[in-house]
Amino acid sequence: MKVPLLDLKIQYKDIKDEILKVTEEIFESQYFILGPHVVRLEEEIARYCHVDYATGVSSGTDALIISMMAAGIGAGDRVITTPYTFFATIGSITRLGAKPVFVDIDPETYNISPEALKKLVLSMGKEELAGIKGILPVHLYGQCADMDPVINLAKEYNLVVIEDAAQAIGAEYKSKRAGSMGDFGCFSFFPSKNLGAFGDGGIVTTNSKSFQDKLQALRMHGSQTKYYHSIVGGNFRLDALQAAIVSVKLKYLDSWTKIRQENARKYRELFADAALDDFVRLPVEVENRHIYNQFVISLNSKRDELRTFLADSGIGTEIYYPVPMHLQECFSYLGYRENDFPEAEYAAAHTLALPIYPGLSDTQIELVVEKIKLFYL
Ligand SMILES: *Cc1c(COP(=O)(O)O)cnc(C)c1O
Repeated sequence: MKVPLLDLKIQYKDIKDEILKVTEEIFESQYFILGPHVVRLEEEIARYCHVDYATGVSSGTDALIISMMAAGIGAGDRVITTPYTFFATIGSITRLGAKPVFVDIDPETYNISPEALKKLVLSMGKEELAGIKGILPVHLYGQCADMDPVINLAKEYNLVVIEDAAQAIGAEYKSKRAGSMGDFGCFSFFPSKNLGAFGDGGIVTTNSKSFQDKLQALRMHGSQTKYYHSIVGGNFRLDALQAAIVSVKLKYLDSWTKIRQENARKYRELFADAALDDFVRLPVEVENRHIYNQFVISLNSKRDELRTFLADSGIGTEIYYPVPMHLQECFSYLGYRENDFPEAEYAAAHTLALPIYPGLSDTQIELVVEKIKLFYL
């Protein structure tokens, strides 16, 4: 029996008829860029994320870029963020000419540490603080970062908050949805996210009308009236095809999320029975709605050997992420060193994502835990 890290074919089987129907509609209309399907998805996502507005864009990466452009973040500005994230979070900051300022993570949740964040800000002089324009927390693996301290700090120092919610659509923090707490919420429809398109896509949420107007213009080369440009934007548009497909899938998202949460519960039960506490640390659920884009365990020892052993047993796993951002070659110019962020570095060296997708059978979950037990005990 094989257990892939992710199997999207199971999901597709259930919704195939609906998907083919909307894609045929679009093929017949030959209307591919933006349009009514995108507008509809924007309204649906705004409602789902408990915000006023949403702007469909070309990817999660572009959602980050366009948000920072709308906030006026550019050359020389600094943005406080986490070094333990997918590359796009940091790549987007630097592509705008801005500089990331890293803060270590909370080892329990893998999200930005509010204590470390406060400490950093308090250690800064007036001039240094003036260069900081925003905070970019990441809701990693589907669990919201501790947002109250982030929002309070942002208010105190007049900073813009950009939530990287690419892995966290529908996740909640104190009953508030991911993407509804900061100035911008950035989502990705990359196929492996909980709400994936059939290709690249993304969306930005906001409660500000003026940011919304800017986002809508920026994704069309900065024009509000065709061929008249008051600002420079880019081509950040979402395809009608992707929007229509995501609209179909959004109806099922909550039921898929429930199955992911149920799979997580099964893992917890099985790991408890397996008595692997000395070897395996399970993900800590702090916030009330963790949507489990990933189920990530931490291994005290032999993470890479375990991964090879599982692969040999037909079980897919992944390391998210093996090199924290402050140690990436392309960011060496920032001047960070090893041991600067020990929690992020520990996580990078010890964590492993297990299969959690909806459609995973009980026997498959049991096999994963059984094999991990066999490896360690
Ligand atoms: C996937 C992801 C992105 C980028 O999304 P794309 O749609 O692949 O561009 C950004 N940040 C995080 C945390 C992600 O997981």
